[in-house]
Amino acid sequence: MAELTFFHGTMNCGKSTMALQIHHNAVAAGKRCVLLTRNDRAGGVISSRIGLTQPALVIDDTTDLYAELAGRLESGARVDIVICDEAQFTTPAQVEQLADIVDVLGVEVQAFGLLTDFTTRMFPGSRRLVELADRCQQLPVDALCWCGRRGTHNARTVGGQMVTTGEQVVVGDVDGDTLAYEVLCRRHHREGRTRSLAPAEPRVRLAG
Ligand SMILES: [Zn+2]
Repeated sequence: MAELTFFHGTMNCGKSTMALQIHHNAVAAGKRCVLLTRNDRAGGVISSRIGLTQPALVIDDTTDLYAELAGRLESGARVDIVICDEAQFTTPAQVEQLADIVDVLGVEVQAFGLLTDFTTRMFPGSRRLVELADRCQQLPVDALCWCGRRGTHNARTVGGQMVTTGEQVVVGDVDGDTLAYEVLCRRHHREGRTRSLAPAEPRVRLAG
């Protein structure tokens, strides 16, 4: 039975790497995959920070994902699995199209993305995925806050300062200031205390 699964995690937790691993395993098992991405670091490919890449269809807000898949099937292509990276950037309507791909076309969909933005609010596409998915799975957290706690929240810094307002999606730098992201624990996200403001001696030490 085809299912819609949403794998979510923080930045730098290996979402794209896992998407590519699932793609690799599916192809090895003789399955046909369609890879989708948007606003990816490299454009036209799903790329992971450990160096894996795979060509992917780049979608934007106007892409009808259901029509795209239905068209491929009508033209005789076989598709077993749709893998959607950067799923937080899909629109709620596109998430409903992903559900239709599962329910009407019988094709498995596995979506990978962030749950929340730098203000700790859910991305609209991620919220719709949580609402509609057959399964939601939190990816293991391997990014740690500078204090040693689990890095559960995404912080945005501009010119080294943590910011809590601004556009939800920003590509590139802002007014000449370097825009960056850092994963923090909830406490330090709420305090606005990034690594650059950390005391010299971390207050919490965790094994490993
Ligand atoms: Zn912390």
